[in-house]
Formats: sequence, C-alpha cells, structure tokens
Amino acid sequence: MKDRLGRPLGSLRLSVTDRCNMRCRYCMPNEEYVWLPRQSILTFEELARLARIFAGLGVTKVRLTGGEPLLRHELPMLVDMLRREERITDLAMTTNGLLLARCAEDLKRAGLQRVTVSLDTLRPERMAEFARNTRHADVLAGIAAARAAGFARLKLNTVVVRGYNDDELADLIEFARAQAAEVRFIEYMDVGGATEWSLDQVVSQREMLEVLSRRYGRIKAVVEASNAPAERFRLSDGTTFGVIASTTAPFCRSCDRSRVTADGTWFLCLYAERGIDLREPLRSGATDDEMAGLIAETWRGRADRGAEERLGIAQRGALYRIESLRADPHREMHTRGG
Ligand code: SF4
Repeated sequence: MKDRLGRPLGSLRLSVTDRCNMRCRYCMPNEEYVWLPRQSILTFEELARLARIFAGLGVTKVRLTGGEPLLRHELPMLVDMLRREERITDLAMTTNGLLLARCAEDLKRAGLQRVTVSLDTLRPERMAEFARNTRHADVLAGIAAARAAGFARLKLNTVVVRGYNDDELADLIEFARAQAAEVRFIEYMDVGGATEWSLDQVVSQREMLEVLSRRYGRIKAVVEASNAPAERFRLSDGTTFGVIASTTAPFCRSCDRSRVTADGTWFLCLYAERGIDLREPLRSGATDDEMAGLIAETWRGRADRGAEERLGIAQRGALYRIESLRADPHREMHTRGG
C-alpha cells in the first residue's frame, strides 16, 4: 500500500509514554510540561491490537519509543505480545539508557531484536548541564548491559548541537567501535519542543564529514537500498557510522515512517500539524477491518514531506513557541516519539 508519493506503509513508531526522565535541551528545554491524561494512554492490549492491524497493512518494522519507553512498567510484556505477530520482522526500541541495565535481559528474552541508545556526549558534566541529568554512568551501564544481553547491531544516537558536543564526533566513533556499536549523528531539528533551536546551532552532514575526514582521511558512502533515515559511511579501517540529515538534506521522498502517540494519535509526519485519533474508534467498538479501512484510506492520501518544506523557509526558526506546545502536547517531540 503506497501513499501519494509512492511510499509504503512500512515502519511504525509506537510511543508507549510521553514521560521522560531526562530533559535534553533539543527536546525538553522547558521547566513545565502538559502531559497526556493517564486515562487516555493505550493499554498494552490496545497497542498490540493496533500493531497487528498495521502489520496487516504492510508494516514490518515497529520501534518502541517514548518519552522514555522504559518508564512504562512491564514493557517486556508488550514486547512479548508484539513478537507474537509474525508479520513484524523487525522489533526495536530507542531509549536514553538510564533504566536499560536493569531490564536488558528481560527485553531480550521477551523478543526485542534491536536497541538504540541515545548518547549525546561522553562527558558526564556536559550531560548534567545539557540534559539536566547526572546519571551518565547509568547510560554507559545500559549500553554494556545491552551488549551482555546479546543485542547485536547496537546503535547509538547522537544529536549534534554546535557549542555542545560538536567536538566529540571522533571520540563517539571511537567509543562506538569499542562497544561494537554504530553511532548515528543526528542534525539538530527545529521540530516539536525544540524552542531554543536556531540554524546556527545546526552542524550539517557536510560539515560533520569535513571534520571527520580531517581526522580519518577519505570517508566512503555505504551504498545500500534502505528506507532508513540514516545515510551510512565507512572509514578506511571499515568502521561505519551514520548521519541523519533531517535539517539540511531531508529524506522525505523515501519516508515510510509514521508514529502513534501513547494516547493513540497517529501522525503521518513528524512535522504534521494534526494527527488522526485511533483511540476513539478503538475504544468505541470499531472492528479490525474498520480500523484497517480508516488507516489504509488515510495513508493513501498522505503527501507529507515536512522537513523538505521547512528547507525553503527564509527566516527559519523553531517550529513551535511554548504557548502552542502547551496548547496541544501532541506537538511535542517527546509525545511523538522522535
Ligand atoms: S519530515 Fe515527515 S515526511 Fe519527512 S522524513 Fe520526517 S517524518 Fe518523513
């Protein structure tokens, strides 16, 4: 099933909570937040039912996100429910790692296949200042626990912000190599809660590659057919890393991703102003076929390419001001699950 730009409904990001135990400045820079009402949060049964319906329409990749997904109690139970859906062949999770050390084994046993850990800096004092969190050691312990639990193809996500961690690119590549992991450098995006965003804080993919080639010499692009957001590169010693250039070189043309928030709102694009409420029909007796019909019809009408459209904006600033984020918490990145 394809949308109006010929893109398949391939990858679903399921947010299981809007809560987070970190306050990264590029996502949650503010003091106060409006949270989703608890009674609106989908149960594991509802999340699993939705995933099953999406799988019936062609989704093969499901990624669990938040906020911080590990704040949702008993998450291995949901993983176990999702793993029973054979059409979902790639079940992954993105976490900030703070709670990973205590549940990596259980998640692996329940059937989780891949883990991505957000690691923006190797310097605890920087994380304390930038994310208002002093538990850097717990993130490193989480990465070690994921490896010990047998999660192969471990990925580390790093949002690069000028003046914060743009001097750590090579260090993070070295760290990832030592952890048998692959780092993805993510350009700072103006989406959701990034109210402090400005273009001069963005370190572009081109600039990152220039900095890294000064250190490592010639860097080759990895040629591969994939809808994944990262463009991958290889150093002369075979080490690979990725760059997600959403701000300066968006990849909307191949985007097969959509997101469901923890309260069942389906967003066809990270930049979409509005989403589709799936919770209401889910809870008011719609059959699986009726749900599938609604989703199919909506996807076929999709033409979103938010990041591309942002490229053309002259005086580009943050997408939202605090007032409009407070007015609708669905606009927040930590609600949409990145
Ligand atoms: S901006 Fe929207 S369409 Fe473009 S890659 Fe991101 S989610 Fe997909």
